[in-house]
Amino acid sequence: MIHYKSKEEIELIRESCMLVSKTLAEVAKIISAGKSTLEVDRIAEEFIRDNGATPSFKGFQDFPFACCISVNDAVVHGFPTKDELKEGDIVTVDVGVYKNKFHGDSAYTFAVGAITDEVKQLLAVTKASLYKGIEKAIHGNRVGDIAYAVQNYTEKEHGYGVVRELVGHGIGRNLHEEPQVPNYGKRGTGAKLKESMVIAIEPMINLGTKNIYHDKDGWTIRTEDGKPAAHFEHTLCIQRGKADVLSSFTEIEIAEKANKNLSSDH
Ligand code: MG
Ligand code: MG
Repeated sequence: MIHYKSKEEIELIRESCMLVSKTLAEVAKIISAGKSTLEVDRIAEEFIRDNGATPSFKGFQDFPFACCISVNDAVVHGFPTKDELKEGDIVTVDVGVYKNKFHGDSAYTFAVGAITDEVKQLLAVTKASLYKGIEKAIHGNRVGDIAYAVQNYTEKEHGYGVVRELVGHGIGRNLHEEPQVPNYGKRGTGAKLKESMVIAIEPMINLGTKNIYHDKDGWTIRTEDGKPAAHFEHTLCIQRGKADVLSSFTEIEIAEKANKNLSSDH
């Protein structure tokens, strides 16, 4: 069943999403070589709790951490660890917060210091594909229109692998609601998009093969060929004409740029 949201509910989801975005901006400030992803998780959790919310993922189906932190060949659902990030790594931080009985969800892949041009392009194309999907997330379209837009851009135009096993989702009182929002599919198919539906679109794009496997920790999803993967996610509300994006990358991108300039000064 799809839950359509009232204006008041949409504003509460926006509040949760904006806290997710602010948390990711805090993360952007501190991502650097030598930092462990466990430290990143701790800082994110503290920030979420200081702002009167709880991390949605902690305890969700027994996930043990506040954030999913996935490095290099880890696509999603990675565990924070004591391992230090290294120059040239990419790291996806996926954050959900629960506040006022509503969830917000967003993810961003960060570069640690200088990365190769090949990986830089993977990040740029994956982020752009999220916005291609959002362009199609309007009243009257179908889920397949979003899916096709993401797949066509990443797979057809750039030759990347689109993960099939994991999808975007409706969101609200529950972290995962209907409908499912895949990153591959046919135009004009799937659930109809209607005003006041709130969904998360989240392309998971691999530099190489689309195939993935489950790490033995039971959670982390990795690329079969060991090549890196990127993941960007926004939560948004379907409207007529243009989606209302409830999360934001603006502060994250500002912090990311400032962090980069800082590290290149040394
Ligand atoms: Mg997420
Ligand atoms: Mg999600």
